[in-house]
This record gives sequence, C-alpha cells and structure tokens, in this order.
Amino acid sequence: MGFLTGRHAYHPSHGQATKRPLTANATTFRYAGYGMGRTGREFSMARTRRPLIAGNWKMNGLKADALALAKDLAAGVKQVGWSDRELLVCPPATLVAAIAEAARGSGLLVGGQNCHAKASGAHTGDVSAEMLKDAGATHVIVGHSERRADCGETDSIVRAKAEAAWRAGLVPIVCIGETLSEREAGDTLSVLETQLKGSVPPGAAAANLVVAYEPVWAIGTGKTPTVDEVSAAHAHIRKVLGGLTGDAAGVRLLYGGSVKGSNAAELLAAGDVDGALVGGASLHAAEFLAIAKAA
Ligand code: PEP
Repeated sequence: MGFLTGRHAYHPSHGQATKRPLTANATTFRYAGYGMGRTGREFSMARTRRPLIAGNWKMNGLKADALALAKDLAAGVKQVGWSDRELLVCPPATLVAAIAEAARGSGLLVGGQNCHAKASGAHTGDVSAEMLKDAGATHVIVGHSERRADCGETDSIVRAKAEAAWRAGLVPIVCIGETLSEREAGDTLSVLETQLKGSVPPGAAAANLVVAYEPVWAIGTGKTPTVDEVSAAHAHIRKVLGGLTGDAAGVRLLYGGSVKGSNAAELLAAGDVDGALVGGASLHAAEFLAIAKAA
C-alpha cells in the first residue's frame, strides 16, 4: 500500500497503479528513442523545451518506504537513461538529503516542497532554500495551492520565495491555479494572470523558472480539465510570461492535477505543456515512470 491517506489518497482505479516493485517493471520502460512523439507520433523537429516530470510527495513518507521508492525510481531512470526529459522528486524536507544521496549518479533530481524567503534566522520550523541546496536539492516548489490555502501564502510571499530559490541556486517551480468557483465564474485566465504577475519575480528566464498550472479543483480529486482547457490556460500563461521575461518561449510550463499513467499522454500532448507536477501518482514508482515515459 502506498503511503498516502485521506483526501489525497491515490486510488488505483484512477489510474493504473501497481503495487509491484519497479524492479519487476523496469524493463518495460525502455524509451522508444528520440524522434518519437509524446503519444508515439513522429516529431518533425527537435523539442525546444525538455519535459520535466516532477513528483510532489507532500507530507508522505518515512525513511524506509521513501528510500525504497527513491531507489526504484533511480534504478528506473538509470536503466532507461533518459537524456531528453528530466525527472524530479520533491520529498518532505526531512528526507531531501537521504533521497538525494540515494539518487546520486542516477539522473533523478531532488527538490524541496517549500522554502522560507530568508536564508537563515529566527524562523522556527522553517527551512531555507540554502538548506535545501545544501541537502542536495536542485529545485523547490513554491506557491503550491495547499500552502496558499493552509498557510495564507500570497503572491508576494511566493515571489519572495522564488527569489530565495535563485539566491540559493535552486530553480523555483512556481504554482498557480484557479479554484472551482473561480473557474465557474469564468475567471480562470484572469486569476492565472494575476497570480503569475504577482508570483514571478523580475529576472525570470527559461533557465531559472518553471511554472506549474494546477487547477485547485483537480488536485487529488481524479478530475482534470479537458485538453483544450489545459492548452488555453498554458497558452495564456506563456503570453503573460512574455510580459515578464524576454525568454517566455523557453520557460517550461507543467500541468498538475490528477495526472496518472493512463491520462498522461493526452495531457502532456496538450499545447504548451512541457511536463507535469504529479502528487499521488508520484508515490508509485511504476506509475510515475509511466507518466515520464509518456512525456
Ligand atoms: C499536486 O499536489 O501538486 C498534485 C498535482 O496532486 P495530484 O497529482 O495528486 O492531483
């Protein structure tokens, strides 16, 4: 059994979760080779943005299970030897160093789920971007909707955290997304625009920024927007980014919200989608690797 519980429990019926260890499946994750598209179609030109598949483990994982998962993922990544896409896992802060050690040399990247805006100081219980970097992280998620809701994080707090990530040498994954009521009111694109303008600091560029579009109502629910809705949101995000950086065409935009092995190919093939931020399904090695394979 995976280690998710409650609202964010991962239901195998939402996807094709398997309890088999990855080692039993790893041989099935051979990459078809560069030149095959995300859904098996031929690419006529090289991809300009390398897909990123990022796993957000949230507040899940004790050392033994988490290390076993990381080792399975690292073995899978190493075996396939993907050079045309990146895989990242973001474990709880307590496990970043151990998971980074377990992933060393495999190509699997490790990130944090949050950081404080300051480098150090009297902030009991917080973790700085520098600490994450020191533990072996390369990325950090900032502005996840659960932190915006649970901890009252505003766009300006998220922006300060993104700047902290840069200061420490990490790439922030800035999360934005509309609630169900905002979508039903027809405000999705304006909400995304406001969040993006407020959360992305000046100085953003393709090399130092990833944006994740995560409709709040799709997170942990098994519901997803249509491919056209995802494309429209991502096209708008890229357009707004054009006013924030001269490098908007190179910034990777991830879709997040109930991505699983069985819907990944469709969602990842949507316009302007350059990868996925995955919650529940990232806790199952075979499922997460199936998503990566679809990228
Ligand atoms: C998330 O929390 O970032 C997320 C996308 O979760 P899930 O994949 O479980 O919907």
